[in-house]
Amino acid sequence: MTFEELGIDARIMKAINELGYETPMPIQEKVIPVLLQSAHDVIGLAQTGTGKTAAFGIPIIQKTDIAFRHPQTLILCPTRELCLQIADDLIDYSKYVEGLKVLPVYGGSSIESQIRSLKKGVHVVVATPGRLLDLMKRGTMKLDAIRNVVMDEADEMLNMGFTESINAILAAVPKERTTLLFSATMPNEISRIAKTYMHDAQEIVVGNKNESTNNVKHRFYMVHAKDKYLALKRIADYYPNFYGIVFCRTRKDTQEIAEALIRDGYNADSLHGDLSQQQRDYVMQKFRIRNLQILVATDVAARGLDVDDLTHVINYGLPDDLETYTHRSGRTGRAGKTGISIAIVHSREKNHLRDIERLINKKFEPGVIPTGKAICEKQLINLVDKIEKVEVNEAEIVDLLPVAYRKLDWLSKEDVIKRLISLEFNRMLEYYRDADELDVPDERGGRTEHSRAGVKGFARLFINYGKVDGMIPPHFIEIINQYVPKRVEIGKIDILPNFSFVEVNEADAQLVIESLNKIKGLERKMVVDRAQPDGNQKGSRQPRYGQTPRSNGNKRRR
Ligand code: AMP
Repeated sequence: MTFEELGIDARIMKAINELGYETPMPIQEKVIPVLLQSAHDVIGLAQTGTGKTAAFGIPIIQKTDIAFRHPQTLILCPTRELCLQIADDLIDYSKYVEGLKVLPVYGGSSIESQIRSLKKGVHVVVATPGRLLDLMKRGTMKLDAIRNVVMDEADEMLNMGFTESINAILAAVPKERTTLLFSATMPNEISRIAKTYMHDAQEIVVGNKNESTNNVKHRFYMVHAKDKYLALKRIADYYPNFYGIVFCRTRKDTQEIAEALIRDGYNADSLHGDLSQQQRDYVMQKFRIRNLQILVATDVAARGLDVDDLTHVINYGLPDDLETYTHRSGRTGRAGKTGISIAIVHSREKNHLRDIERLINKKFEPGVIPTGKAICEKQLINLVDKIEKVEVNEAEIVDLLPVAYRKLDWLSKEDVIKRLISLEFNRMLEYYRDADELDVPDERGGRTEHSRAGVKGFARLFINYGKVDGMIPPHFIEIINQYVPKRVEIGKIDILPNFSFVEVNEADAQLVIESLNKIKGLERKMVVDRAQPDGNQKGSRQPRYGQTPRSNGNKRRR
């Protein structure tokens, strides 16, 4: 099937040819004829990346009455970024359709300039629901000539709490219209909206509901809750070409994990709702152009990010809403490439994992956290590979080489290789040389025989800071790194509500106790002592204080 055969006119053909679209994508083959030849409502089960914007955008442009300068099509979508992206795509498709005006309206930017543009006359409005309602209330957005309504990423709009706004908008548009609804999933609420506001809708499914996950391997790593962060680092280290999103459930987690990764020397940053729009744009742009390797994000903030060729998606814990998992994992495994969706879970999340397996109709394969040795080997191969493949600009370095040759003359080829590798690699080796392998919980969440408990050579210390102080394992590692004037081997970290236990190398235990007890400037003195075997720890019932000791981050331990 060609675009011409679908009935697309020459002006749009010219534009999409220039964009390099040669043949229609499956959703376009299905949706375009319905919209051009009939006025059926359409429900499309499709995710981003399937070509749905062109599927609804092209026929809408073609059907627009340019001479009539009133909004004829309303496209609703969940985020500002998607709003701009859809508007941009429509502007591209209508490059040779003279006079067609597309206006994106979204929250967080000047409403006045949007009102001015509306007054000048537009044909297609792409809007986020909240801002559109605002414009409707002010009387500046007239819906009486709307003939097409598109709801894009409808499930996501509901997730973001736009249900009422959508109801209000749909109740206000003329009944004589075509309504299109696109969604990656079909929760009940969407079916209800479809029943209430759509008539005789034709349901179009692109491939299988779970098609986007076909190239995706789903893998889970079961770890103790306290080891999640360490597991994350090992996974990132094991894949030197990692380019992925780490999804967290809360803004706080997102911020904390990103901060810990940055401190530990990773090329990471965070994306969440507490950032300003400019900050979010900046982070997204860095990630898009791959200047950023690991993006730690909440689901809502990541919606605006049009990047889906990730090597990995990491679920730092499973989402409450199972459908969200489909969105997350759909970001990888695109364009014929395989992707990996990883869940780092603790044993209590096991049932949740099974629920997701039922939803995606695929099994999670169990992953084994890579050992330090395996990581080092993998990194080494990658480094050697890079050395082998690096482009050598002979002309530019020719003058500099004699000096280098002369200086290294006394070294054999093997020595040069060793040094070159050490230069890049010592940091990684050093960390993994001393790092303990992660303890694997058994099915019931207990410890296996590999458990560190009782491992000789470790002292268990009591510290009077706990969960209520916002402590997570990386904080303790960081504090020890900063305040103990020696590299200390750290073992198991147990964080309880009001206090914690941290294992350190027996040989360094006294130094750690003394150093941490001396920390000044905290709102509450840190009390560190050897843990009492009977658990009757003095100082264990401490009042709650908000301040968490934080380092200035200039010492690192990976
Ligand atoms: P979407 O699902 O609308 O976000 O589209 C996914 C990507 O596919 C976008 O980058 C589009 O530009 C591209 N695309 C859409 N239709 C076609 C087509 N027929 N041929 C090639 N690329 C397309």
